[in-house]
Formats: sequence, structure tokens, C-alpha cells
Amino acid sequence: MKVAVVGTGYVGLVTGTCFAETGNSVTCVDIDAEKVKSLQNGKITIYEPGLEAIFKHNIAQNRLKFTTNLAEGIKDAQVIFLALPTPPGEDGSADLKYILKVAEDLGPLLENYAVIVDKSTVPVGTAELVRERVARAATVDFDVVSNPEFLREGVAVEDFMKPERVVIGTKSDKAKKVMDKLYAPLLRQGNPMIYMEERSAEMTKYAANAFLATKITFMNEIANLCELAGANVDDVRRGIGSDSRIGKRFLFAGIGYGGSCFPKDVQALAKTSADFNYDFKILESVMEVNYLQKTKLMPNIKQYFDGNLAGKTVAVWGLAFKPYTDDIREAPALENIKALTEAGAKVRAYDPEAMDNVRKLLGNSIYFAKDLYDALEGADALLIVTEWPEFRTPDFERIETILKNKVIFDGRNLFELEQMQELGFTYHSIGRPAVT
Ligand code: NAD
Repeated sequence: MKVAVVGTGYVGLVTGTCFAETGNSVTCVDIDAEKVKSLQNGKITIYEPGLEAIFKHNIAQNRLKFTTNLAEGIKDAQVIFLALPTPPGEDGSADLKYILKVAEDLGPLLENYAVIVDKSTVPVGTAELVRERVARAATVDFDVVSNPEFLREGVAVEDFMKPERVVIGTKSDKAKKVMDKLYAPLLRQGNPMIYMEERSAEMTKYAANAFLATKITFMNEIANLCELAGANVDDVRRGIGSDSRIGKRFLFAGIGYGGSCFPKDVQALAKTSADFNYDFKILESVMEVNYLQKTKLMPNIKQYFDGNLAGKTVAVWGLAFKPYTDDIREAPALENIKALTEAGAKVRAYDPEAMDNVRKLLGNSIYFAKDLYDALEGADALLIVTEWPEFRTPDFERIETILKNKVIFDGRNLFELEQMQELGFTYHSIGRPAVT
């Protein structure tokens, strides 16, 4: 099939590359000329495990192309994916300006029947709006379907190539046939293609993300209560996670969720609720609790230094909002760096993948370390923000010799309390008794 993907960011590049891998001829379109130039030169623009190899392979096979020209990109395409940003607008609703602009541009360019697919996360009713915008100048038949994306950054290729389910919102049998054919190679293990009305498909994506954000936040609140009540959230997690109704995943307490999806999607669903005059109380709490959770360890850090961080240096391990990605959107690390620097501390940060992105944002206002031990040089304390595997079993003897004080503030509960006790560290984590 001939496939076009408009918007070549995390979702667009993964979608385009993976559909090329299943034998389609794919053209990815983006307005960012620098990004397109880099991709045309075979240089990948995001870090995503496993992506680079199939990206290069499909370019070599001539199945994957990049352009800034929409007309050229969608020429003869049977399927046109819209993988465009939907950032929060001023009122928290998803801003549809990118989607609707491209929809309007597409109308006069369509030469044959095509299925236009909303891959972006968009509120209920967006497919109707897109249809209306395309129709303004279209001279051929077309369908608009909702096909929300559930991939997780960090395992995006695996998620895309073997999705647990594919959700498609459409009533058109013609569009269904096209989508069935396109997705068949990804569903060979028997995972379902779930068809529904487009409004339900649009709601499904928000319901999924809001549910997961709520699950994390619920556990963070349990953790906060555990600290006050003298319980250990790790034990509570094991205790409840073995109940199959609850499940083991998304139960790890920490210093809040971030990323490009959960924060904005919870906010957008709250706005949708408000538009329908529905007071979705849980969502408001989730947003508030998560905001506070991000800097949960700051009072502990301040207290350790008798309330005065001026002139202190804090090593920060982890900048990405989660491991295996270079994405720093809404990353808890940024809130912590802001709080630390505002309190007068210097920051020495290390992240295996995300330092370039933070450098673009913060310039040289913090030090970017060569590795995790370089971050500790001259530092008074260590703060762990992201659970990268390489942080899990560090050389504690080395930490002890470099760090000025034997103190670790761990926002991801990486270490066992007994181990910290034996090693003689002061250790503050989330939802567990402090080791002092
Ligand atoms: P992104 O910001 O990484 O990529 C969007 C791309 O669209 C950018 O490269 C931008 O230059 C390009 N763009 C903007 N306007 C354009 C135009 N007029 N023509 C062509 N290209 C244009 O965003 P993303 O993370 O890929 O997210 C895209 C959508 O997918 C969002 O709605 C998001 O909520 C959703 N989503 C994201 C994830 C994720 O993990 N990142 C997962 C599921 C769904």
C-alpha cells in the first residue's frame, strides 16, 4: 500500500517506519525542514530502541521517504495518517490547530479516494471537524477514521509492531477494508482489531491514559500515606498487585508521571468533561496530586541541609520523564532542577539520552556530566529522578568516595532499605521509611 504520514515526531516516525517495515511504501511529511533534511540523510531524529535499524533498512529498500511538501507526500496515498501535535491550549483543551490546518490543506490535494486517519490524540468530535475541513475543497471521495495510538515511548517499536489491540472508529466499510489490510501483519498473533463509532474511539484513548495516570497517582497517594503511617509502599504494592483484578503494572510509587501524553491528556479530558458540564472530580485530584508529587523530595533535601541549599551542589541522575527515551516533556527532573536552583543550589545532571534536549532548554545553567560518577564530583547530595537501569546497581563504594555526604534522595525507589542501612547511607525514598 502507499501510505503517507503527516507529522514525523515520535508517533509519526514510528508509524511510518513500522508500516514501511511491513512492506508498504511510506512517505513521511513534516514542516520542520531541519528534521526532514536529517531524516533524508539517514540520520534519525529521536532515540527509540530498535527504531534506527529498521529506519535505515527501509530507507535502503526505498520504502521510506521524507519530504516537507504535503502534495508530494500524499500523492497516490491510499492512507494518510495525521500524527500531528495536539498540545494543550490555554484552557487545557487539546489545541487542534495543527490537525485542522493540515485537514484544510489536504482537501484540494486529494486526487483519489483516501482514508484520512486521526492518529493524534484528539477529543471527541474531532473526526467530524476534520471531515468538514477536508470536504471544503475536496473533489474526490474520502473517509476520516479515528485510530488512536497506544504506543509507549521507550518500547514504541515493539508496541507498534505487536499492538495488544488496534482501535478503529469508523462506520465506513470501505475504510475498514483498507485498515484491515494495513494492520493485518501486525495482528498475526490474534490480538483484536476493535471497531467502534468514531466518538467512542476518540474517547477510548483519553480513558486509557486518564485511567493509567489515575492508577499511578492513587499509588503515589498510598505512598504518601505509608510514609505518615509507618508502612512500606513496596510491600503494599506486592500485596495488592498479586490480586489479578488490580494487576502488577503501574503500581510503582515515585515522584510523579510526566511525558507528552498523560499530563496533557488528563487535562484535555477534564476540559472535555467541563464542556459537557460534567464535573469529573477524580481528574482534578490526579492533576493536583501529580503536580505536588514531582517535588515530593524537596522538603527532605532542604531539611537535610538545615533549610539552606545556597552554595550546595546536587547531583541529579535522570532527566528523561522515564527510562529508554530522550523525551523531557513535563519531566519531573525539570521541576526539581528549577526548585533546586531557585533555592540556590547548583546542579550536576546526568542522563544517558536526554541531556541534549535539556541543554537546548536550560543552556549551561546546569552542568551536564559525562557519566553518573562525574555528576557526583563535588556534589553534596544525590537525587535520583529517572529509573534508568544503569542507576540500579551503581558502585556504592565509588559513590561514597566522590559524594561529599553519604545521602541519597531517591524518587524511584531503586534501592533496598536494608542495603542502604548496611552501607550507612542516609536514604529518603517514596512511601518507605527513611534510612537515617
Ligand atoms: P511530536 O511533537 O513529537 O511530533 C509532531 C510532529 O508534527 C513534529 O515533528 C512537527 O514538526 C510536525 N508538524 C507540526 N505541524 C505540521 C504540519 N502542518 N505539517 C507537517 N508536520 C507538522 O508529537 P508526538 O509525540 O509524535 O505526538 C503526536 C500525537 O500523537 C499527539 O496527539 C500525541 O498526543 C499522540 N500520541 C503520542 C504518543 C507518544 O508517546 N509520544 C503516544 C500516543 C499518542
